[in-house]
Amino acid sequence: MSWMLHGIGASPGRAHGLSLRAGWDVPSVPHRTISPDEVDAEVERFEEARKWARERILQIQRATNERIGSVEGKIFEAQAMMLDDPDLISGTISYIRENYLPAERAIDWHLLELRSRFADTAHVMALDRLADLRDIRQRVLSRLLGLEERDVVSELPEGGAVLVFDELTPSRAVQLGGDGVLGLLTATGSRASHSAVIARSLGVPCVVGIGPRLAELADGHEVILDGATGRVIVHPTEAEIETYRRSALHTSEREHRLEELACCVTQTTDGVRVILQANLDQPDDAAAALRVGAEGVGLFRSEFLVIGRRTIPDEDEQYDAYRRVVEVFPELGVTLRTFDIGGDKFPIFLPMPMEENPYLGWRAIRVCLDLPDLFRNQLRAAVRAAEHGRVRILLPFIVSPDEIRRTREMLDEVRASLNAGSAPDVPLGIMIETPAALETVDRLAPHVDFLSLGTNDLTQYTLAVDRGNARLVDLFDPLHPALFRMYRRLARSAEEEGVGVSVCGDLAQDPVGVAALIGLGYRTFSLAPPAHPEVKEAVLAASAADLADIAGRLEDGDRPRDIRRPFRRYLEEILPEGEGLLDRLSVI
Ligand code: PEP
Ligand code: MG
Repeated sequence: MSWMLHGIGASPGRAHGLSLRAGWDVPSVPHRTISPDEVDAEVERFEEARKWARERILQIQRATNERIGSVEGKIFEAQAMMLDDPDLISGTISYIRENYLPAERAIDWHLLELRSRFADTAHVMALDRLADLRDIRQRVLSRLLGLEERDVVSELPEGGAVLVFDELTPSRAVQLGGDGVLGLLTATGSRASHSAVIARSLGVPCVVGIGPRLAELADGHEVILDGATGRVIVHPTEAEIETYRRSALHTSEREHRLEELACCVTQTTDGVRVILQANLDQPDDAAAALRVGAEGVGLFRSEFLVIGRRTIPDEDEQYDAYRRVVEVFPELGVTLRTFDIGGDKFPIFLPMPMEENPYLGWRAIRVCLDLPDLFRNQLRAAVRAAEHGRVRILLPFIVSPDEIRRTREMLDEVRASLNAGSAPDVPLGIMIETPAALETVDRLAPHVDFLSLGTNDLTQYTLAVDRGNARLVDLFDPLHPALFRMYRRLARSAEEEGVGVSVCGDLAQDPVGVAALIGLGYRTFSLAPPAHPEVKEAVLAASAADLADIAGRLEDGDRPRDIRRPFRRYLEEILPEGEGLLDRLSVI
């Protein structure tokens, strides 16, 4: 009998395999005391282990820079700097000197103390720090106790495995890019956690934040996971496996078809042109966007350049990152979203206050406007990158025209200061991701050049459902009737205001969602590269007139499925039998 686990989809893709619990247990430290004349030697042992661990982390950073990218490598800065932290060093040494503890016991105590300080809060910012602490504790203790440093997975079974972690720290995540790792499941973590960033860069499907129920999954259970929806089927039935196999088989068999798909023009059967752009988290992801035939970048989440960073990336470093993406799409263009920090995404260099409700707190445009130096640097880097191709700037989390006005003033100043005013013009747009923005589009639109619908935050703020809460995952549905009404109104208002609106929230990754939005009049979508082929197939098979007809006739329903069902049925009818997408609609 199959059963389901729900988590947060953190890296798209599907996997089927046997589960394997992989963890790095922190070694237990025997209690003993030392004599006063052993103190100096223990301090020396501690120093040697600390420096060794630091060097090891820097090695992993260098390997990560090479294998994945320098942005991911920066994640290790935090750990290396933690090991140099004067408080960590002096705290441990005083345990050795004052309490006559051996080096391993002293650092263990001190790190536990730090851990309990962080753990006092369930704040996501602290959760990433906890993972870092655990990582350095493991490393220093292994050295002091003479244990071998263990790879995450020493031997993967033939055919690979779906790895199960309570907690996946970044330095473990980077070791997972081999062939045998089919997918990842973790009990803790959020979509923005470092490990999720790395899983996405490695292209390994990943579901995080599954919670304590993941403990029920022992080794050797058969699972199917979907890293886009966050759903996991444990002990799938024959029928579920067969359906998965058909879709997976088609995915690999259809390499050729995927190439064809990447090249063909995206339009519906009745000739309506649809634009599919890419959502990117890292500059290196631009290559994948190009491979699937994305028509530019509709959302570059620039904050992934800074989360987990100890130091503010300076203007040149940012310019370099933006330029790399712009050079891949000089004509089609790149929509660069300014830092959406706060919520569940925190850089370490900012002393962010602990907040009761970070999603309702100091986030995104609010942070940027409060920290003009940080914001100005980013705008300068963006305007400079615009010399290499088309760049648009997108502002997150807007609730009032004032925020746009203040940004525009700053952008004008930046342009004036660059190249004596001959800097390229950069269109300015806003995310429609708060109910306030959606309700006042008529007030906001005159200040901007374009709009981008963010269904993820709009869903969370409209339904009052925390997007990072795995327990509420069934309530988080961007096709809730309330939202469908809002999308309908937004399409109309944008048309009345004469401003273009595209969709960059995750609803644009769902073929049924895209069908519904085309029915409402939306034509431009931005989605993660792995989701392109399926969405494109749906668009190529559908008629925009049919979808408009369904949307026009759709009575208000009570539940998301009342909205979803007619569009899904339509796709089931028109999609060719035996194609992957049809199976996909019914898998998870
Ligand atoms: C959204 O909120 O829909 C969106 C695209 O932004 P993010 O997921 O980065 O918050
Ligand atoms: Mg958002």
